[in-house]
Amino acid sequence: MKKLSASRNLIQDLVASSRILATHEVLDAYGHVSARSDQRPDRFVMSRAVAPALVTAADLMELDADSEALAGDKRKGFIERYIHGEIYRMRPEVMAVVHSHSPSSIPFGAARTKLRPIYHMGSFLWSGAPVFDIRKVRVENDLLIRDRPLGKALAGSLGACTCVLMRGHGMTVVGRSVPEAVFRSIYTEMNARLQLQATQLEGPIEFLSDEEGRRSTESNRGTLERPWELWKKKALGRK
Ligand SMILES: [Zn+2]
Repeated sequence: MKKLSASRNLIQDLVASSRILATHEVLDAYGHVSARSDQRPDRFVMSRAVAPALVTAADLMELDADSEALAGDKRKGFIERYIHGEIYRMRPEVMAVVHSHSPSSIPFGAARTKLRPIYHMGSFLWSGAPVFDIRKVRVENDLLIRDRPLGKALAGSLGACTCVLMRGHGMTVVGRSVPEAVFRSIYTEMNARLQLQATQLEGPIEFLSDEEGRRSTESNRGTLERPWELWKKKALGRK
């Protein structure tokens, strides 16, 4: 295997993240996580097309700015790798991306109700979770982001937000690090589930204010190491 343009720590974090997200049922046999290279910011790293729970360091591939594998790497990449490449192109501060078909996010991509932060763990949703409707970009579609123009349109819908919902498909979440993107995808799923539960109670639902959301997002960034240490150790089977 060719040496990746990524530090040992980043490679380890990426392997752990696939397994963590599978354990949390944010990813099943589908979905993927990537990280911008910490040595070549115009490239990113993600696994070949394989179920996330099975990912090892040997499965990781380096992709160029157009989401294509480097010359000589003939392994099969994910069809939807363009989601990642086009977000990295549009958002220079984004260091990691998770794309999932996380079940509780699906209703919010299909209905009018907006996904909003119902508790502090979902506070990063304060900036909004826009819905990307692939039909508005391409009428004849199979829901998948299978090329650069679709990836670019999705990145455009994400805008400056942390999460974009995809009608009839799933969601994509970004972070300034692999741990942050993992944290956010886990808590997008949980926030969505809790919001659905709250709708069964007497309303109106009191969501976090924008100011609470902004402050809480910063606080969570400061304590991210704690869940990350736990999740990573469990995922990699270390004491
Ligand atoms: Zn997908």
